[in-house]
Amino acid sequence: MQENLLIGFVVIWLGLTVGSVMLFQRGNDVAKKRRLWPIYTVFSNVVIGGFIIFMQPPTAWMISILILLIPVTLLTIRSTKFCDSCGQASRSPFFMKPPQVCSHCKKPL
Ligand SMILES: [Zn+2]
Repeated sequence: MQENLLIGFVVIWLGLTVGSVMLFQRGNDVAKKRRLWPIYTVFSNVVIGGFIIFMQPPTAWMISILILLIPVTLLTIRSTKFCDSCGQASRSPFFMKPPQVCSHCKKPL
């Protein structure tokens, strides 16, 4: 039972990774990427949260990590911009303010 759950998480995680590459690294449909990015980010952080609960760390740890996931999720969504020119994602390091220029083609975002 426990092992099946773990395998399930690994499969979901692999799916999310592959899905992220397929959805956000490829193609030039910027509007679609912008629409799907918050959904994808929230979903992947819910999976991380579920995995943390599954690992059953001490309750105080678990609660602080889960609470921390909320701003991390919001900041991840906010700090990632998709370029109109090349369709690539630009992410600001360490959740600083959103990037102003595309990290791939240097056009303003
Ligand atoms: Zn660009």
